Amino acid sequence: MPVSFDVQTNPDARSDAEVATLLAAPGFGEYFTDHMVSITWTKGQGWHSATVKPYGPLSLDPSAAVLHYGQEIFEGMKAYRHADGSVHLFRPEMNAERFNRSAARMMLPELPVELFVEGVRALVEVDARYVPQPEGEHSLYIRPFMIASEAFLGVRAAEEVTFLVIASPVGPYFGSDGVKGVDIWVTDEWARAGVGGTGNAKCGGNYAASLIAQYEGYDHGCTQVMFIEASGKDRVEELGGMNVFLISASGDLVTPALTGTILDGITRDTILKVGAAQGFTTVERRLSAQEVFDGIADGTYVEAFCCGTAAVISPISGFKSKRGEWRLPEAGYPKTLAIRDGVLDIQYGRVDDTFGWTHRVA
Ligand SMILES: *Cc1c(COP(=O)(O)O)cnc(C)c1O
Repeated sequence: MPVSFDVQTNPDARSDAEVATLLAAPGFGEYFTDHMVSITWTKGQGWHSATVKPYGPLSLDPSAAVLHYGQEIFEGMKAYRHADGSVHLFRPEMNAERFNRSAARMMLPELPVELFVEGVRALVEVDARYVPQPEGEHSLYIRPFMIASEAFLGVRAAEEVTFLVIASPVGPYFGSDGVKGVDIWVTDEWARAGVGGTGNAKCGGNYAASLIAQYEGYDHGCTQVMFIEASGKDRVEELGGMNVFLISASGDLVTPALTGTILDGITRDTILKVGAAQGFTTVERRLSAQEVFDGIADGTYVEAFCCGTAAVISPISGFKSKRGEWRLPEAGYPKTLAIRDGVLDIQYGRVDDTFGWTHRVA
């Protein structure tokens, strides 16, 4: 289904000099490109009015359903510039497919995979000068999202919905002073998801629900929080916005199984495949927080890391909870960094993409 986007060029686009200044210190999610993509869905009519237009505030009726009932989903992906100047997306159809699973869960309309990818491509093409050079792990972070834009206060699935794509040039999520270990707070107090809930949908509500635990973690000197399934069975799930892995001394690469309450990260899936190719034994299973703590204490687990598109792979230096504190060995995280390099090398085109994961857009 070929779609044509109505392209309205931004008359106030930044100058090349302004873009260069911004790319020198992009931060994370602070600056946005000159354009955004918008596609509207109306019940009975389907998707229409595909537009590339100047980045700017939305005009939304105060009764728009999203503002009241949180009917919203999003995705996070990146465009990477390779050394030859070309620009590539990474497994974009995985984002499109997950977006549709999130949409189905939140009673939002599905968006054809090709239209999702075309929307992302249209934005990256028009704002390609915002895709940074690869040095320092810079990239263009892309945020597709869908909101219930219908003006109506009744509680039902919205009959008018807007799909949008915005993009922001970014540096490393945890700052630019190298790969450092992060301390993780394991909350026994708060849950982000429950069985039958929205844990495996990428929706804003999950993030709103996770913030209180994040702040509990800050109070204990931690930068991130790890959630336990709300079943009382002490099952490790994931962080507020990242999946979690453990590495055993014997080379097992272990991550909680996808059981409906965990977001199925594309980085998670990528790591399982890259890790297997590097000789790790990949294991997806339920594991309890106590098992993690005991395994660190007795030397079974020698490294741990969290992962997601935004922060790539960050080594975990220790876990803290009301039950105690457990430190991972301070040995420079060699196994984590080997996997991390393996993933980044493919994303930045530094090795042959034998998996067929990169998707050239400019
Ligand atoms: C987006 C997200 C992840 C990471 O997914 P990636 O596809 O790897 O970026 C993990 N957990 C949650 C809750 C998320 O929202």
